[in-house]
Amino acid sequence: MVIAKKYVLVKHFKGKPKSSDIKLIEEELPPIKNGEYLVEAEYLSVDPYVRVYMGEYPLNSTIIGFQIAKIIESKNPKFPVGKRIHDHLGWRTHTIINPDAPIDRSLGNIPSYIVPDFGDLPVSLGLGVLGMPGNTAYFGVTKILNPEAGKTLVVSGAAGAVGSHVGQIGKALDLKVIGIAGSDAKCQWIKEELGFNHAINYKTQNIKEKLEKAAPDGIDYYFDNVGGEISSTVMYQMNPLGRVAVCGSISAYNNDFNDLPKSPLLQPAIVLKELKVEGLLVTRWANQWMEGIQQNLEWIRKGKLKYRETITKGFENMFNAFVDMLEGGNTGKAIVKV
Ligand code: NAP
Repeated sequence: MVIAKKYVLVKHFKGKPKSSDIKLIEEELPPIKNGEYLVEAEYLSVDPYVRVYMGEYPLNSTIIGFQIAKIIESKNPKFPVGKRIHDHLGWRTHTIINPDAPIDRSLGNIPSYIVPDFGDLPVSLGLGVLGMPGNTAYFGVTKILNPEAGKTLVVSGAAGAVGSHVGQIGKALDLKVIGIAGSDAKCQWIKEELGFNHAINYKTQNIKEKLEKAAPDGIDYYFDNVGGEISSTVMYQMNPLGRVAVCGSISAYNNDFNDLPKSPLLQPAIVLKELKVEGLLVTRWANQWMEGIQQNLEWIRKGKLKYRETITKGFENMFNAFVDMLEGGNTGKAIVKV
């Protein structure tokens, strides 16, 4: 008999999530049936979207999230014992999976898949640079911004999982890259180790002035991870026909949807500069998922893509890792190792 541990929602988040909003409970799992397999989580992802999406879930739902888990028992020859899978199983230690009756596809149509062989690279990268955030960066830059070499790209949330990756793809595509992040240490990392041309600390520096200096010829592309004032400031400095990929708005994830912060009106910038602004959900490219992973793997192998993980140890620390990530405690991908 296997006892799974899982976190469930007991109170919808309001403002900054509180530890009392979720509860760790145990669940006795039944024996597996033909076609099913049992997995044990090894690495769990903590992601910003969880803060927002859980608002749509009824109380007592398992907290959502991706994990990499090892198959420890199987009655499905396509998923043999010992392999590792990537799936949206939520914050739980053990799960029985029936690939024909998926548990929760709330993050769209990304199927359960066996983690590809990354060779000597850590398997945890399957939650970051070689997983959902990596594909967000890859498809967001190549399909939405589709940039021309020599032009200027600004990315916010620049030292996080998606942002640090976006900037490096920009460099791989010969763009001038400016990153906006929340600490001097993060700015130093993206500039000195990742090769961004400029880094701006939005907490201590004047973004408008810094952008004017770093991009005297204007900004051609903006990859927006944060929304709000930062993004309005960037968009008013864009060149005519500039392109904006809107990926997220973490600056307001702790706000109530009925009481969102006001930031400067964007329509004058969009109209007068004829900007093309497009939102993106990475699930749009679910049927090209492995293409993104293979390209990112190739960039790592060629030394064009570096990564960092902020790994918290212990399933009991899921909540702390989540809140820490929302507050900027992570550099690169925030992960929990069970
Ligand atoms: P992440 O950047 O690794 O972690 C979140 C970061 O957000 C924190 O480290 C923090 O960095 C920053 N942050 C927190 N509060 C902020 C604020 N008030 N203003 C500015 N920055 C703030 O997370 P991620 O997984 O890479 O996600 C980044 C963004 O992409 C999020 O908006 C997320 O929802 C979005 N996303 C969208 C998709 C999609 O399909 N559309 C997929 C994946 C992610 P600082 O120290 O720099 O503040």
